[in-house]
Amino acid sequence: MPDARFKAVLRKLEGLLGALDRPVTFMEVCGTHTAALFRSGLRALLPRGLRLLSGPGCPVCVTDQSEIHMALDLAERGCLIVTYGDMMRVPGAKARSSLLELKSRGARVEVTQSAMRAVEIARAEPGSQVVFLAVGFETTAPATAAALKEAKRSSLTNFSALCLHKTVPPVMRALCSRPGLDVDGFILPGNVTVVAGLDGYAFLPELGKAAAVAGFDPEEILAALADLTQQVTEGRFRLSAYRLRETPRAGNPMALRLMAEVFEPCDARWRGLGLIPRSGCRIREAYSCFDAAEKFGLTPVPTGDEGCKCGEILSGLMTPPECELHGTTCTPLTPVGPCMVSSEGACSAWYKWQ
Ligand code: SF4
Repeated sequence: MPDARFKAVLRKLEGLLGALDRPVTFMEVCGTHTAALFRSGLRALLPRGLRLLSGPGCPVCVTDQSEIHMALDLAERGCLIVTYGDMMRVPGAKARSSLLELKSRGARVEVTQSAMRAVEIARAEPGSQVVFLAVGFETTAPATAAALKEAKRSSLTNFSALCLHKTVPPVMRALCSRPGLDVDGFILPGNVTVVAGLDGYAFLPELGKAAAVAGFDPEEILAALADLTQQVTEGRFRLSAYRLRETPRAGNPMALRLMAEVFEPCDARWRGLGLIPRSGCRIREAYSCFDAAEKFGLTPVPTGDEGCKCGEILSGLMTPPECELHGTTCTPLTPVGPCMVSSEGACSAWYKWQ
């Protein structure tokens, strides 16, 4: 967006907010939006009367502590864990180590940016039990599905995935029904929506919530904020998208087919949000020999969060500075919870840029 246009949208936003007789609150659902708002400086430019809350769109942050413990169990049992980097430093509860600490004590943990790489490692190391930590939303789940298909095609017996994938529309529905959430609308993640489709969020306007899909450029986020504010001003709610023509209503059919072939919806536990119906991905029977939870007899055991308020932050009930550990006990070097670990975590973003 050219500079003049950017300024014009900012002025429009100021005008819309000025016409309202109350402040508005929007939630940026995705952690990448949170980070982009700070990193670009856009957050500092936003007019008064606009409050932003972070949401449950950081995959590492929403991974429940019980799920983190299953991953630590597997590393302690001698499996070769292959994981996305942000999972390395998430601490377990009750002074349990992180994967990084276990690795420093000899556990086998490899970082990857690709699920398929975990399959390659399994192929190269037939004597090791390789477990891929499958976290993330609709953006990463298709890649895990493709890796499981490849493992099946190759008849690998030493590869499995700890499937912790979650899906975004069900958590949005659950959030909207939670008491105490005071938001007028949502900035929805463009990357997830390109895969999952716009239609999954159709319930938001029906619930009286403004909704706008945006990518991670500051211009797109600003345009989404202006759009959301306009919806509130008019009292007419809709589902808008900055790049509407590039945002398929029904999502990416190939990715969704892949997911549907390998996964089935299941109830999933989200950090701080509890069990949310049909918000997770369970590996289907046809691929169950690659399900690490089944293969190694793991069951999630709920644990406490020991003063960490990630759950409240991910639910939009508080902001990171309201956590009394923020910036004192909990820093990027000494993270107490995943919201301080992850590059998409709200606590980390506030610490670095506020
Ligand atoms: S500042 Fe640290 S302890 Fe507080 S909510 Fe964030 S991650 Fe948890």
